Amino acid sequence: MIQVTKTFLPPFDEYIAQLKRAWDRAWITNNGILVTELEDKLKAYLGVKNLLFCSNGTIVLQMALKVLGIEKEVITTPFSYVATANAILWEKCHPVFVDINPTDFCIDVTKIEAAITKNTQAILVTHVFGNPCDTDSIQKIASKYNVKIIYDGAHSFGTVYNNKQLLSYGDISTCSFHATKLFHTVEGGCIITKDDDLYEKLKLMRSFGHVGDQYYSLGINGKNSEFHAAMGLTNLPHLEQIIKNRTQISKRYDLLLSNSNISHPVAIDNTVYNYSYYPVIFPNEKIMLLVKNKLELNNILTRRYFYPSLNNLPYLESYSKCSTSEDIASRILCLPLYDSLTFDEVENICKIILSVIN
Ligand SMILES: *Cc1c(COP(=O)(O)O)cnc(C)c1O
Repeated sequence: MIQVTKTFLPPFDEYIAQLKRAWDRAWITNNGILVTELEDKLKAYLGVKNLLFCSNGTIVLQMALKVLGIEKEVITTPFSYVATANAILWEKCHPVFVDINPTDFCIDVTKIEAAITKNTQAILVTHVFGNPCDTDSIQKIASKYNVKIIYDGAHSFGTVYNNKQLLSYGDISTCSFHATKLFHTVEGGCIITKDDDLYEKLKLMRSFGHVGDQYYSLGINGKNSEFHAAMGLTNLPHLEQIIKNRTQISKRYDLLLSNSNISHPVAIDNTVYNYSYYPVIFPNEKIMLLVKNKLELNNILTRRYFYPSLNNLPYLESYSKCSTSEDIASRILCLPLYDSLTFDEVENICKIILSVIN
């Protein structure tokens, strides 16, 4: 069976060696030395000043909205994982979906201004599959209308845009370190901001809003444990090799699928991609489903990611049309991509795909 992704697990002994540091101290959560060390290493890797390691990539979106005082309309993308829209709804804000562009599947920046009202307080958008949003245009719009920018960077770890880590953009950027993501801590995530004041507030918010007997503000439990930090510290040194392997596998796919009517998202200029996903677009939904089923018969799993387009979620108050997002969602598949996938397996996958579409 070939899964769409396979979690990278480091050599067991390496993980145990990290774990033992927490074990020996009998200190396994609440800002232990491993959490602090992981935060320092992530800050150095990403070139950012303020970063907090948190329990997952969803709570950090909620904390971002909360700390920025967002309570009304949030401009967002319909083409993302459901957590993006759910975080907005969970915080009792109102998502305003703006369609995506057909090139990189990020929000269509030419359509944002038309969606802004007097109630718009933030733009919360996803760097889809780790490809950058047009951050310059979004910044210009945000400044003009005085709204905040939150980037859901759950796919963005390691992508470099304009010579800076993509996760360093926006008022706040978040990431997920879930086991299915490029860099993982089993469960986990982080929140990043340039603003020292926001950072202090977020730090309090992550731990119930108090320090010892001093109670300051409304908080939640967004902490993560030493066991999770141990996984991060063990995985981080392997990241470069993981990205290298994924790059080669993706280029292999590119080559083998080049003479077909399959298309791919194309990142904006000045992007150094992290190879977090391998999405392909088929001419229509029918062909996509034929391919998906044929691969499944051969024990190869793919994923309709992202599907459905989030403006179609059944629990939304009302439906707003986003034709590009709905169109792409109907015919996209993510193909298997993980560091230990072999060239033989890639060849077999492509052979099956080509046998269906030709
Ligand atoms: C995975 C993901 C999340 C949620 O992260 P968790 O760590 O699973 O909570 C949020 N947004 C996007 C775009 C994701 O892919």
